This record gives sequence, structure tokens and C-alpha cells, in this order.
Amino acid sequence: MFQMNECIRKTKSRIPLTKNEIYELVRGITANDSAEQIPDYQLAAWLMAVCFQGLTDKETADLTMAMRDSGQVMHWDFPGPVADKHSTGGVGDKTTLILAPIAAACGIYMPKMSGKGLGHTGGTIDKLESIPGLTTALEPKRFLDVVNKAGFAVAMQSGNLASADKKLYALRDVTETVNSIPLICASIMSKKLATGADHILLDVKVGSGAFMKNDRDAAELARRMLSAAKADGKDCTAFLTDMDRPLGMYIGNALEVREAIDVLSGSTDTVLGSFCLAMAAELLHMAGKGSREICLNAAKQAVRSGAAMERLQRMIAAQGGDPDITLHPEKLPLSSCSRTVLADKSGWISHMESETIGRACVALGAGRMTKEQSIDPGAGIILRAAAGDPAEAGMPLMTLYAASENQLDAAEAMLASAITITDDKPQVRPMIRRQLSVRDILISG
Ligand code: URA
Repeated sequence: MFQMNECIRKTKSRIPLTKNEIYELVRGITANDSAEQIPDYQLAAWLMAVCFQGLTDKETADLTMAMRDSGQVMHWDFPGPVADKHSTGGVGDKTTLILAPIAAACGIYMPKMSGKGLGHTGGTIDKLESIPGLTTALEPKRFLDVVNKAGFAVAMQSGNLASADKKLYALRDVTETVNSIPLICASIMSKKLATGADHILLDVKVGSGAFMKNDRDAAELARRMLSAAKADGKDCTAFLTDMDRPLGMYIGNALEVREAIDVLSGSTDTVLGSFCLAMAAELLHMAGKGSREICLNAAKQAVRSGAAMERLQRMIAAQGGDPDITLHPEKLPLSSCSRTVLADKSGWISHMESETIGRACVALGAGRMTKEQSIDPGAGIILRAAAGDPAEAGMPLMTLYAASENQLDAAEAMLASAITITDDKPQVRPMIRRQLSVRDILISG
């Protein structure tokens, strides 16, 4: 008979749980009958044991699969490859808004579930919902309909998907047990695997603005996520990408939609543009669309020809938004108060503290610290210079947008030390630090 205190004892003593014990544990998280439910105090004790002692690869994969099976698991029947992409969360990351239309224009289907932003990181749902009229609350039939029309759809994650994660995440949030690699892996991958894509591209962010602050932890998270995908027979690749600086120059919801439109209009010769093309090329390659070189050319052509933008327009219209914003981005909300921050000395911009920039965006109204908080879609920051650029005293570094002067004051104070200007020209690391695939992964434990 299943005993939760025995699971706690085993994990505390680094004795691996069996697959059966893990499935019983997850069943006890979602059980409706109170007699079968595992009390929060026992779950919290087990979560803390995981934080200190970890789980083996096999336990992590079993936990991921048990959590996947705790809710609805989707199956698709599209006349082409079904792919998905997931970012572990960063600042200024609007990749999905660019990558999904490019992939769709190249014959990939992407039924995508996404989350809202929390803390200093943004969420795709908030970005899309800054488009007037657009909804991401799609019931299954409409979700399917949008994918059939546009090749991709972005819906708010349903509570039915990996149901155990909802309860577990809420408990982790209040017991300081979020920051555990096996728990993060199971939480993210259970939801990804439940959405039923055959090819999954992971963007594991590393640096000050990311969950994973160093390369070693990011590589370990990527390896665990790939192991879980492999255990489910999925094709999966992970990029470890730089979050020591924001991605792109616009941060904030409607501002990021503007930048995505800019890239899809042809401005691909930027750090953000070339990053999105590289991601798109990898996804196309994974989905069997040819060599990486052929796929990169196909992605570039999808932008050049306007086919990717046309997919974005179709998706916006099918989700109830105004597709005209792609031609007239000035129709997107922009908060009425603004202030430009100037460089206080000359030299080189050597560092942009992305976590602080993300937190300043929250202070401007662009993000939320609790799930219930509402956001200002027009708030955020436009960076006027990037890491590695020369700086001159008095030149604009960034412009802040908010609904009130008080919010601008608060954000400006936070940003005082976010940008470092040094005398020497800095080395800027490439955006993509490393690439790993399921084929590189051996499951141990
Ligand atoms: N995102 C998730 O969905 N879960 C985590 O644990 C961390 C980030």
C-alpha cells in the first residue's frame, strides 16, 4: 500500500522511488476524494527533500510522465509535422511571435499553449493580449480552427493540462521549492508533452535574467528536459541561450509585439532577428524540412516574401484581434508618460542587468508579481543601445513608458545601476551558447 511518509523517507535518504510510487504520489496530488489526497504538509516535506537531495534522471522522467498523465493529453491530426517551442523565461523574449508564423509559413503546425508572465519574466499570453480584441481563451474547437486557418494558434494554458502541476506549483511557490532542476523539468515538460507535439525546441535561458544563472545549471536543466522528452519518444533539441542581456531592444507587452512585427517586416539583421531565424531553421530541420542550411534559407524566404507576416495576420484575425496592427503598429497601446534615461559617462556598454531591467518593467506596470495583478499593455522600456555598443555621456540609453510619473520614478531608481559603462570594449558572448539534442542524452539512474 502507498505510504507518503515512506516516499519522503526514501527521497530524504536518496533512495530512488519506483515508477509506481511516483504515479501514486501524483495521483494523491489530484485525487478528488479527500481520503486519497496527500496532505499539503507531506507534499511540502517531499518537495523540500527533492530540493536538497534531487531525483535521478529516471525518477525525473517518471514524475514528468505521471504529471503529464494527470490531465488531458492532446493528439493532433494535421496534414504536416506538429512542433512546439518553449522558453524557460526571460526578459524581452518575443521569439514565439516571430518563430511560430515563420514555421507555419514553412508547413509546420504549431498548436501552442502558453502562460502569463510572472515576476521579472514576460509571458507570450500577455504580449498577444495587448493586441486590441485578441483573446487567448480558446476552447478546443476554436483552438483547432485557428491552427487550421493560420498554421499556429496561441492559447492560454488550460487547467486540464498536467493538472498535478497547478497544485504542485502553487505549493512550491510558497515553500521556497521552485528552484529545483528536477521539479522545474517535470513542471515544464509535463505540460509540453501533454500538448502532443512530435518535435519540441527548448530555449533554456542562462544568465542574470533567467532561472538558471550559470551554464552548468542550464546544461543540467536542458539535459533533464531532453531525458524526459526521450522517455516519451519525442524529438527534442535544446538551445542554451544568453539572458545576461535582454533579447532585442523592446521590453513590455505591446512594445514586444511592435518589435516582432518589425522583424517579420524584414528587419532580420539584428541580434533578435538572427536568433529567431536560427531557432526557426532548427525547428524546420527537426521536422524533416531539409538540412539546416536549406531550412535557414526557407525561414529567411518566409520573412522576405511576407508569407510569415501573412500567417501572423491570419492568426490575429482568427483569435479576434485586429490584423491591421501589423501594418499600423501605432494602433498598439503605448502608455502616455515617458522618460529617457541618459548615459552618465562615455565608454562602452559592457553589461545590461536583465533581471533588474525586467523588474523595472514590472514597476512600470508591464508585469505582475502575483498571478492576480493586472498589467498595463502599453508599459515597458525601449533600449536605445545594446551591450557591446559605444556610449557617449548624455546619449539616450533607454526610454521608459508607464501610466504615471510615480511609476517612472520607481523604475528609474531601480535602473540606476542596471547598465555598466566601462573604458574597455567588452566581449559580448554569442546569443546561442550551446546546443544539445535527445541524441546526446543517456538516461541514468
Ligand atoms: N515554468 C514552469 O512552468 N514551471 C517551473 O517550475 C518553472 C518555470
